[in-house]
Amino acid sequence: ERKGIGRLRRLPSRLISGEDVELLANIEIANELPLLHRNGAAGIGLLRTEFLFDESEPLPDEDGQYAVYAGLLADMQGMTTTIRVLDWGGEKGLARLRQLGIHDEQEEENPALGVRGLRLLLRHPEILEAQLCAILRASLEGKCRILLPMVSSVNEVIATRQIYERCARRLRRRGVKLPNDLPPLGVMIETPAAALTAGALVRQADFLALGTNDLTMYTLAVDRSASMGSALYTALHPSLLKLLRLSVDEALRAHRPICVCGEMAADPRSVALLIGMGLRSFSMSAASLPAVKRMIRSLSIDACDDLYRRAMLVEDPIQLTELVRSFAC
Ligand code: PEP
Ligand code: MG
Repeated sequence: ERKGIGRLRRLPSRLISGEDVELLANIEIANELPLLHRNGAAGIGLLRTEFLFDESEPLPDEDGQYAVYAGLLADMQGMTTTIRVLDWGGEKGLARLRQLGIHDEQEEENPALGVRGLRLLLRHPEILEAQLCAILRASLEGKCRILLPMVSSVNEVIATRQIYERCARRLRRRGVKLPNDLPPLGVMIETPAAALTAGALVRQADFLALGTNDLTMYTLAVDRSASMGSALYTALHPSLLKLLRLSVDEALRAHRPICVCGEMAADPRSVALLIGMGLRSFSMSAASLPAVKRMIRSLSIDACDDLYRRAMLVEDPIQLTELVRSFAC
């Protein structure tokens, strides 16, 4: 088995009909990097920075974060690293919010629907600025992109880009030699509002990332942590496919990269369906890479297109799940 994976790592991630598919890894802590390399990821599609720093210690300042990001980028040896800014709120980072004294405003009845992700950072721009400055400095050590979580309106992206450019100006004044083209700034599509306005978002964003975990929760009104594994919580629902398709169409029309980084990308048959939808980039836990790659290397684009066409005709989520589960590969 290990030998098989070693060989698989060096083989291209390519359909039998010749199309290349990019396989990236989702990373939470730096010690996952050896597995990422062993399983042949082409880069990091999602670095969840809210898990990167030990919560029993204070959040590192700009210099402290810079050291961590720079180390990661050096380890990635020129492969793209997508660094998502802190996605606190909802079920994540409550200890940290308490520590920073911003927990009180977080005591909401429905934290999943509250001030979280980018909304929270825009209310505390000093935290966002320190992180963006640290990433910008680290970007001199490797290839990176920056990703914004929990976007629901285009004005959040416009406001963040202004802060981002201000950070770059400040660093240049400090003598940091940043390239003219700053690292791309991308938007996560993980609320129905974002998916439905993907056209406006893509005009403000350099790339999109589909977060199917939260998108499933918010679209189906089913809590992701309480209902994981329950039949109610499934990305294989016609509503999800429609929302994903809207985002894919807008990204392709605008020639912007788009990637799937929710759990759906770790399911080989769902990946076949998403390839049929037009997607060519998937980010998943490092452990899931070999199974998805094996599947990709056994598929033709025609089979993916056919699965996708049939899936879009299904109105019943149970039938949709059966269709995808019975897909022969
Ligand atoms: C998602 O919501 O699909 C996602 C990738 O982000 P996270 O799982 O970190 O919320
Ligand atoms: Mg999410």
